Amino acid sequence: MTTDPATDNITTVNCPNCAANVRWESASAFRPFCSARCQQLDFGEWARESYSIPASAGPDMLDIDAEADF
Ligand SMILES: [Zn+2]
Repeated sequence: MTTDPATDNITTVNCPNCAANVRWESASAFRPFCSARCQQLDFGEWARESYSIPASAGPDMLDIDAEADF
């Protein structure tokens, strides 16, 4: 229901780091980030915050599945 020709068939997102408009297309290699710099900056913060938290989302979900079955 869009009448704006500028957004015709193109989804745009805001860069999580700097809020810049990013086209959601294969040409935007760093989407949802606008650039490699923003992508790496965001990943750096993420890695630092979760440095001491083990990535156990997968096994946890499997456990829930097993319990439900049991
Ligand atoms: Zn950005």
